[in-house]
Amino acid sequence: ASLADLSTDVPTSRRVPERYAAIARPVPGHFENTPDTDPSVAANRAWVRDLLARAPRSALGVATIDAARLDEPAQLDSVLGRAVAAADAWQAMTGAARGAVLHRIGDAIEARRAELIEVMAAETGKTADQADPEVSEAADFAHYYGELAADLDRIDGATPRPVRLTLVTPPWNFPVAIPAGSLLAALAAGSAVAIKPAGPAERSGAVLADIVRSVLPDADLLTLVQVVEQKLGRELIAHPLVDRVVLTGAYETAELFRSFRPDLPLLAETSGKNAIIVTPSADLDLAVKDVVASAFGHAGQKCSAASLVVLVGSVAESQRFRTQLLDAASSLTVGYPADPRTQVGPVIEPAEGKLLAGLTELAAGEKWLLKPERLDDSGRLWSPGIRDGVRRGSAYHRTEYFGPILGVMTADTLDEAIDLVNEVDYGLTSGIHSLDPDEVRTWLDRIEAGNLYVNRGITGAIVRRQPFGGWKRSAVGPGTKAGGPNYLVGLTDWQPSTAVS
Ligand code: GLU
Repeated sequence: ASLADLSTDVPTSRRVPERYAAIARPVPGHFENTPDTDPSVAANRAWVRDLLARAPRSALGVATIDAARLDEPAQLDSVLGRAVAAADAWQAMTGAARGAVLHRIGDAIEARRAELIEVMAAETGKTADQADPEVSEAADFAHYYGELAADLDRIDGATPRPVRLTLVTPPWNFPVAIPAGSLLAALAAGSAVAIKPAGPAERSGAVLADIVRSVLPDADLLTLVQVVEQKLGRELIAHPLVDRVVLTGAYETAELFRSFRPDLPLLAETSGKNAIIVTPSADLDLAVKDVVASAFGHAGQKCSAASLVVLVGSVAESQRFRTQLLDAASSLTVGYPADPRTQVGPVIEPAEGKLLAGLTELAAGEKWLLKPERLDDSGRLWSPGIRDGVRRGSAYHRTEYFGPILGVMTADTLDEAIDLVNEVDYGLTSGIHSLDPDEVRTWLDRIEAGNLYVNRGITGAIVRRQPFGGWKRSAVGPGTKAGGPNYLVGLTDWQPSTAVS
């Protein structure tokens, strides 16, 4: 293969779990992704400035929403019961008819782009350049799963049987795209949905739910619930009306859910500790740009973020890469989203515990290439940090920190670099910067991660082009990928209708 072939986005859906081989779906032929707002157009810049001015800092973390606030188990029974009742008529529709509803939801999401960006910025501190593609991704999920819903009618050799109620528990870091992806997939697959938005992103979840409900034939198909977690979290997860849970969050949360209900059908995308390897053949300018964007975009608060860069051979020995990396990272503008110059926004809560330690403490052998600074009294605004000399097996090597912090490791050879990356328990995203096709092949064969990116940043998976999901401790459940051709089937109780050898 030529280098040009290798440098394109790697199709990761080649890893179809064994159990699904009988029903693995072909990638639909044509799909057009929703475009982001083009910032090179002056009118678009003015539009973003105005909407961010409406999302002042003072609103951060304040939530007033219209959700079912559940304090007692009996309330849970009645709210979930209504959702399950709504599922009957929805399942009686053909997949194609549900798909048509999904397409209208995609249009409705697009029509309310400004409102979604505004609420994400106000509530979670997300900058517009990160929030805008998130709206596109949510619309993409609606249209793509709309296509797949129609395709469910045509599966030969297996009958995907819809479940009646799917519980969706999304994270706060992608407060629109991730809940949208999960709930729209479940709806497309014929299920009613109860969604419990993450605490710090309740309003974003509420605006999204309002948009989806405005199109659904029956509003009870989507129920927004708020539970007092200590009291009712366990009851909600283990509730007999809940057929399946879609979780995006920490690996420990998946374990907790399983402890509530050991036989829980759970589809979870969990933590990551992701690395980009840079070899001596790399275009170093491009590598620096992609490492910085992957490490510090959304202040590093992505499961997909680059938390490690592994420098190989002469890249490790010379100072050139480090100097450019330092220059690029220290040039980033840190602030709140209301300021359109902001490139790195605040972290979701005042840094404490593990994140605070990651931003302030060094382990043996480490030194700051760029020391993070706390920039205001809130404890939420930190300049990017880069620790050099991260040692194999150290806490930083193996732990997810979820903040604006990057570690530099070194290896003599590509194989050694791959070993370092594979040694961590997680395997979500991974990247290589190399212009040598043999190196890229070796890496593709050996690296243990769900999403592999060659000469590109490792965040921002695009629906259908890069189906998203992890390996190892980065995924729990069937292993089907969001935004990929098998995702809906993974949300049904499919049965082979003929013997499958
Ligand atoms: N899908 C997102 C990306 O590709 C990451 C989602 C997450 O952080 O869970 O960047």
